[in-house]
Amino acid sequence: MIALLSIILLISYVKCMTDIFLSNSLTKRKEIFYPLNKDSVKMYVCGPTVYERPHMGNARAAVVYDILFRLLKRFYKDVVCVRNITDVDDKIINSAKSQNIAIDSLTTQITQFYHQDIAELNCLPPNVEPKATTHIKQMIEMIEQLIKSSHAYVVQGHVLFDVSSHSNYGELANRSLDEMIAGARVEVAPFKKNPADFVLWKPCKAEDYGFESPWGWGRPGWHIECSAMSFAYLGADFDIHGGGADLMFPHHENELAQSKCANSGSSFARYWVHNGFLTVNGEKMSKSLGNFKTVREIIESGFNGSVIRYFYLTTHYKKPLDLNDKALEDAKKAMKKISAVIHKTDSKKVKECHEVINFLADDMNTSAALAHLHELASKSQQGDEEANKQLLWSLDFLGLEVMAKEVIPADIIKIAQERLQAKREKDWQLADLLRTQIMERGYKILDTDDSYELEKIG
Ligand code: AMP
Ligand code: ZN
Repeated sequence: MIALLSIILLISYVKCMTDIFLSNSLTKRKEIFYPLNKDSVKMYVCGPTVYERPHMGNARAAVVYDILFRLLKRFYKDVVCVRNITDVDDKIINSAKSQNIAIDSLTTQITQFYHQDIAELNCLPPNVEPKATTHIKQMIEMIEQLIKSSHAYVVQGHVLFDVSSHSNYGELANRSLDEMIAGARVEVAPFKKNPADFVLWKPCKAEDYGFESPWGWGRPGWHIECSAMSFAYLGADFDIHGGGADLMFPHHENELAQSKCANSGSSFARYWVHNGFLTVNGEKMSKSLGNFKTVREIIESGFNGSVIRYFYLTTHYKKPLDLNDKALEDAKKAMKKISAVIHKTDSKKVKECHEVINFLADDMNTSAALAHLHELASKSQQGDEEANKQLLWSLDFLGLEVMAKEVIPADIIKIAQERLQAKREKDWQLADLLRTQIMERGYKILDTDDSYELEKIG
């Protein structure tokens, strides 16, 4: 008996000892994740620039790092996630100007929209959400440190980072300096020592939005904000840095260079995680291309937060994911199918599912985790109570909410039954007429083998 108990304990211990694997953009390898401190994890994620309501691409990034946050919390006692708000930027200033509203009213409003939309996707709030405008002092201190250590220079009111002062410049993007200059199409200002040198501080007119600094009235460069805020909340060395693949260069490369130079001997972030793009017809969704759909628009067109989340999880986070009606409809169908099974059982009890944990620990293999949910759902449908408990736990862990069962009015069901009979009798004219009647009452009828499914429109 004691031997049997020991074996059971050993098996559960081994199951809980799963390693987390992550694709690290810095080493270009999938690696076992070892935090600096064995019980705690520090993670920084680049957050939104708040000038327009978040689009579906922004939300993909939010969901990817939410899954990582949830996974890390399952393995470590203490996980600190910092996600910044970029509330000073030329795009923000221009947008406020064109709408004739104050900059801080715009950024406060858009930050609220971001919170609302991301909360509907069941993303957990980060532990700290620092705003750039309230960390100007920390940015100035870091810039001063860079000037003191000869990694930055002051010219014509600008402070620029001297890329030639850092021999590892390019280690993250893995490109030569020439390639980086060409790729970034950096503005080659005549006062730059090297075309790749980037702005830490730039001057602006006294009447423009800005801040006082040792170099005069001006505004910080974008990259310094993440370096200063990660240092303020996580210290010089931390575990994970996340963001979209578009940020790898120049944003993350520059963050890495200036942080290492400002904090001599530090490695800055050790694991760099980059999510792939959400695309539209194969092209990156972006505000500048104008091919974006906001999260709000998608929710209002009838796809709730869990359906959108399911859609994101169908594809590995590093791969591109195309947004189209079919993909969203498929996600909705899948969530409905799983939810229908849960409703048939009456159990509120849950049990951790090791398979789902193992799939997620393998570099967040969410598509395998979803496939496992469907296996659990079919077992659950056949009355397997254990599978049902694991399914409930897995849905909760992945942040997917069971969809409420739609109550279809009796008169609609009656017409649908009459239509089924008409179809069986090959009376297509009557079947079409009844379909129209169903649609006029706000429902959609979908034909299955020898039956139908009804769904509310919108
Ligand atoms: P932004 O508000 O543009 O600074 O972006 C906020 C976050 O969303 C960053 O991590 C971006 O890399 C990410 N992001 C922006 N567009 C996309 C996209 N089309 N697909 C995936 N992530 C994106
Ligand atoms: Zn950043």
